[in-house]
Amino acid sequence: MNQVTIIGGGWAGLSAAVHAVNAGWQVRLLEAAPQTGGRARRITHHGLALDNGQHILIGAYRDTLALMRLVGVDTDRYLKRLPLTLCTPNGDGLRLPDLPSPLNLLAGMAGARGWSWGDKWSLIRRALRWQRQHFECPADMTVAELCSGLPPVVLSLLIEPLCVSALNLPSEQASASVFLRVLQDALLGGTGSSDMLIPCVDQSRLFPDAAVQWLKQRGAELVTGHHVEDLSPYLSAPVVLACPPWEASRLTQSINPAWSAQAGALAHTAIATVYVQAHAKVDWPYPVMALRSSALAPAQFAFDKARLSGDKAMQGVIAMVVSASNGDRDQISQAVLAQARDQLGLPQATVLFAVLEKRAAFACTPLTVRPSAQPGAQVLACGDYVHGPYPSTLEAAVRSGIEAVALLKALHMRENTA
Ligand SMILES: Cc1cc2nc3c(=O)[nH]c(=O)nc-3n(C[C@H](O)[C@H](O)[C@H](O)COP(=O)(O)OP(=O)(O)OC[C@H]3O[C@@H](n4cnc5c(N)ncnc54)[C@H](O)[C@@H]3O)c2cc1C
Repeated sequence: MNQVTIIGGGWAGLSAAVHAVNAGWQVRLLEAAPQTGGRARRITHHGLALDNGQHILIGAYRDTLALMRLVGVDTDRYLKRLPLTLCTPNGDGLRLPDLPSPLNLLAGMAGARGWSWGDKWSLIRRALRWQRQHFECPADMTVAELCSGLPPVVLSLLIEPLCVSALNLPSEQASASVFLRVLQDALLGGTGSSDMLIPCVDQSRLFPDAAVQWLKQRGAELVTGHHVEDLSPYLSAPVVLACPPWEASRLTQSINPAWSAQAGALAHTAIATVYVQAHAKVDWPYPVMALRSSALAPAQFAFDKARLSGDKAMQGVIAMVVSASNGDRDQISQAVLAQARDQLGLPQATVLFAVLEKRAAFACTPLTVRPSAQPGAQVLACGDYVHGPYPSTLEAAVRSGIEAVALLKALHMRENTA
C-alpha cells in the first residue's frame, strides 16, 4: 500500500485521512494536540461537554454531512434541523417556512416581522438582481458596497448577521463575491440548503471521535501529542499539510518560499463563545435566537444548550457567540453578560466559561489570495484557508481534504505512468 503522512487532525486532516483510506492509502496522521478536532472540538468544563466554539452548519454543507454519515454519525440525531431563523427575542426578523425552495424564500421575506412592505420589496428586488447577475460581482467589492441602498432593518437583521456568521467579518470588510457564493448555495442550492443544522452533541462527538474510531478500525495510524517541527523526516512519501496556515507556512519555508509567504500573509479574525448560566427558566420560541448586536452588545446569537442537547446538566446554559470579536476575553464576557441580562431578560445571569479563539478564521476580505493545494512536488495542503469557494468553515475544511486526496491520486498515477 502507498503511505501518506497527514500533519494535523482538524476536520480537514480527518477528511483527508478518511478519503485517503477509502482510496486505498496507508494513512499516518500526526496531531500536535492531545486530541483531534482542531478548532471544532469539545472542551470539558466542570464535567460539562462544551465546545472550543459554538458551531452551526447549514443544509448546503453537503460534503461535511456525507463525510459524517460515512464514518457512522447519525446526522438526523446529532444535528437539529431548523428552517433559517434569524428572529430576535421580541420576534422581529426573518424565519423561512418549511416549504420547498424558492417558495420558502419568498414566503419568509413576505412574512418577516418588523419590516415594512417597502423593506421586503427592496430585498426581493435586490435578490432578483443578484440572481440575474448569477451571484457574481467584482472581486474587489465589499458586502457593504454590494448591499448599499438596502433598508437599515434589512441590513441589521439579515445581511449583517448572515455576513458576520458566514465570513466572520463585518460587512464593510467582507468579500462580496464569497458572500454571494455562500448565499447562492444556501438559498438556491435546493430544498433544505438554507436550513440551520445545530449540533445537539459536543463538537468532538459530532465527527472527530467517530472519524478516529473509523480510521483505527481500518488500520490507519493516529498519533496525538506529536507536533511536527520539520518536514524532512517525512518526505520519502507524500505529505498532506492539514495544519493551520501559519504552521504550514513555517513547514514549507525551505521547500516553497513563495507559497510559504502567501500562507503566512493571511490575516485572521477572532470568535468568542461566552457560556452564560441563566439561573432562570429559558423559554424561547426557538433554541437559537438572533440578538441585536453592537460594539457594546457584541454577541450575534444565543443557543439554548439544554434544549439542544436534552441534557439536564445543561439546564440554563446558554452559548452566546461573538463573531469577529474585538477585545480580550474578560471585556467580551462582561459585555455579553450585560447583553444576556438586557436582551434575553435574564437579570441573574452569570458567566460560566468563555473561550476566545483569536485565529478562528482567515480574514475573507476582497482580493485575499489563498494558497494553492500543492506547495511541493510531494507536499499537498488542505485546510479551510486553502484556495476554494468557501470562507473559513467546516465545509471548506472538509472539501479541501477531499481535494487533497484527489491530488494525491493524480500524483500517484503520474508516478506510475512515468
Ligand atoms: C470559535 C469558532 C467558531 C466557529 N464557528 C463555525 C461555524 O459555526 N460553522 C462553520 O462552518 N465553521 C465555524 N468555524 C470554523 C471551523 O471551525 C474551521 O473552519 C475548521 O474547524 C477548520 O478546520 P481545519 O482542519 O482546516 O483547521 P484546524 O481545526 O485548525 O486543524 C488544524 C490541526 O492541526 C494541528 N497542528 C497544528 N500544527 C501542527 C504541527 N506542527 N504538527 C501536527 N499538528 C499540528 C492543530 O492542533 C489542529 O488540530 C468556527 C471556528 C471557531 C474557532
